[in-house]
Amino acid sequence: MISFSSIQHSPTQNPTTTAASSSAGTANRTFLLPHYHTHKLPLNSPPFFQTAKVSRRLRIRAIDAAQPFDYESLLVNRFAQSAKLKIAIIGFGNFGQFLAKAFIRQGHTVFAHSRSDYSSIAQSLGAVFFFDTHDLCEEHPDVILLCTSIISTESVLKSLPIQRLRRNTLFVDVLSVKEFPKNIFLQYLPSHFDILCTHPMFGPESGKNGWQNLAFVFDKVRIGNEESRLTRAETFLDIFKNEGCRMVEMTCAEHDKYAAGSQFITHTMGRILEKLQLDNTQINTKGYETLLNLVENTASDSFDLYYGLFMYNKNAMEQLERLDLAFEALKKELFGHLHEVLRKQLFGKSEESPRLVLAKMVLFVLDYIKAAASLLDD
Ligand code: NAP
Repeated sequence: MISFSSIQHSPTQNPTTTAASSSAGTANRTFLLPHYHTHKLPLNSPPFFQTAKVSRRLRIRAIDAAQPFDYESLLVNRFAQSAKLKIAIIGFGNFGQFLAKAFIRQGHTVFAHSRSDYSSIAQSLGAVFFFDTHDLCEEHPDVILLCTSIISTESVLKSLPIQRLRRNTLFVDVLSVKEFPKNIFLQYLPSHFDILCTHPMFGPESGKNGWQNLAFVFDKVRIGNEESRLTRAETFLDIFKNEGCRMVEMTCAEHDKYAAGSQFITHTMGRILEKLQLDNTQINTKGYETLLNLVENTASDSFDLYYGLFMYNKNAMEQLERLDLAFEALKKELFGHLHEVLRKQLFGKSEESPRLVLAKMVLFVLDYIKAAASLLDD
């Protein structure tokens, strides 16, 4: 913003001094133009003023206006750019593309690589697609983000030419299981690489209307002590914070324990219901609508993802068994209740002694046989 104003001073005053003192103590920059105008006051002015010459100097006040010689704005731009990351997404499928949109929206540079050719999708999103991981690594991304299916992650990680990366590159994963990627990162990555394991607890379907209050789990498995490395990890986490995620720091082991009891069960129920091919009826209740939504949410995820939740989380099997037991227990409860009702119908009050109940059952069976025999006689 630029504002113009004039300064008045008597001819005895040194114009330079006046200008200097007028700008002192203010944050605005003041530029004095080299020439100034003097003019006489009207004749009807008081005598003192009639003799005084008034000089007017044009002053320009510039508040953060970019000037050719203004290095401040240049530095501000450079600083803003340095706070941005170059993120290489390995695995540019459903979820990789979904994340890329938010990264790009927040001004980060996104490189992408995948088994399939997503070059035109990448271009449309504003990302750069690399067919060859060697070329990608030579761009020296700040972050390598693994976003491949759980079951392919180990082979993909092993195939990366990590020798072409900067020595302290940050490796991040977003796999839906956490102990597994943590272990393979620690196994295959030299100690000079940083490791951040994360799990956004939402997907393209559940996060399509924004990420506000959606949980984002992370575990800083290995981050170097240097300021720049700590800042880089925080800058990456800030992407999710800025989108409004609920940031939850916990160990990978804790995550897997909780996720087996929540996420794996959810996906399993969704897939069971999908097999029932539920109909959308005119008389849907709210509860039924929830079930239909669950089917829609889980069906849009690949089977690889679901299989990964089962295979690569050691707590998943226990949950599957619990689910089985719970279903059996529920059936027993239902049928047990049914027996009770039938018995009451057959023998009246349930508080009758077992001996009496047995006697009645014998009589009932005898009656039944008699009736059947008479039918045969007829
Ligand atoms: P996904 O089926 O789990 O993974 C698909 C991705 O894996 C694609 O990029 C695919 O590459 C790649 N891939 C599969 N097999 C491969 C192989 N043999 N070699 C190399 N790459 C292979 O589906 P997703 O939903 O995109 O999930 C990606 C990751 O994000 C998973 O680890 C998942 O657990 C995690 N995640 C997903 C969600 C979600 O809601 N979807 C949420 C949180 C975390 P191509 O497409 O090039 O074949």
